[in-house]
Amino acid sequence: MAVSPQQNVIDELNRIAFLLERQLAPSYRVEAFRRAARALVEVDVAAVAAAGRLRSVPGVGERIESIVRDVLDGGRSEYRLRLEEEVGQQAQSPLQAALRGDLHVHTIWSDGGAEMIEMVETAIDLGHEYVAITDHSPSLKIARGLSIERLEEQFLLVEDVQRQVGDRIRILTGSETDILLDGSLDWPEDHLRRLDIVVGSVHNKLRIPPDEMTPRLVEAMQNPYLDILGHPTGRMGGKARSSYDHELVFAAAAHFGVALEINSRPERLDLQPDLVRLATSLGCNFVISTDAHAPGQMMWQGNGVAIAEEAGLDQDRILNALSADDLLAARGRP
Ligand SMILES: [Zn+2]
Ligand SMILES: [Zn+2]
Repeated sequence: MAVSPQQNVIDELNRIAFLLERQLAPSYRVEAFRRAARALVEVDVAAVAAAGRLRSVPGVGERIESIVRDVLDGGRSEYRLRLEEEVGQQAQSPLQAALRGDLHVHTIWSDGGAEMIEMVETAIDLGHEYVAITDHSPSLKIARGLSIERLEEQFLLVEDVQRQVGDRIRILTGSETDILLDGSLDWPEDHLRRLDIVVGSVHNKLRIPPDEMTPRLVEAMQNPYLDILGHPTGRMGGKARSSYDHELVFAAAAHFGVALEINSRPERLDLQPDLVRLATSLGCNFVISTDAHAPGQMMWQGNGVAIAEEAGLDQDRILNALSADDLLAARGRP
């Protein structure tokens, strides 16, 4: 089925927004293109253009009008072509190029800012082979943690979005589940089993004394469905917030097959290189994830890559450098 001229225009504007985000353009500039795209969905673009009334559509100024006309004339806009070229010239490190997916992504179902389809389309634009949707679990009410009913609904939405995007990417079901005070995970076993990717994170009582935090985390490591320990030290603004016996917990992670997350959010950057090196010496595997709460944040993976490189981390310790099938096989599930 041919793509309509209308759709071409919308795609062009969204692609431009994406490219600007990659260039770290101010968000008002990025948003201007997304806003115009949303407004143009509501009108018959070809008819409005033919009537010379494009500028009457909210958010359409001189630049966007000329982009729309370029696309309706059957091509791509000059503006986009220039951006594609500029972004294409930005060099990527070999490790970053080796990463095949992102295993920590939020949507509006919990505390993210975008629909699942937007996050998935962004993952496709970034060249990912897979993406795990990992919204919060029930206990984290402040971040609209999903109930069991909503998780069930989200499973259906994943199937639906997967149908929409076809084989351009594989969507993994997932959850960022709270590690509760007693070290248990925040979902019943039946639901843990059905999740492709279980990221366990401490969000509450993360400053308990080390002699309580160590057994809490060791208990969590023994859960056969825990795949990844998310932002392992709760680091925020340059300081780890949780203290515990790193050697003991990382050794347990290695023993029970739980990967440690290198979290790419600028305010987290957790684990730091010294702890990555310690965990490596204890036999741990890792993932480099973005913990994105908006599409543009999925581009932060380079921050985590920089930590891995500084720590001298070997690529075959990084699970999201594997194919989806190999990754799922590496989870060590029962
Ligand atoms: Zn978290
Ligand atoms: Zn998160």
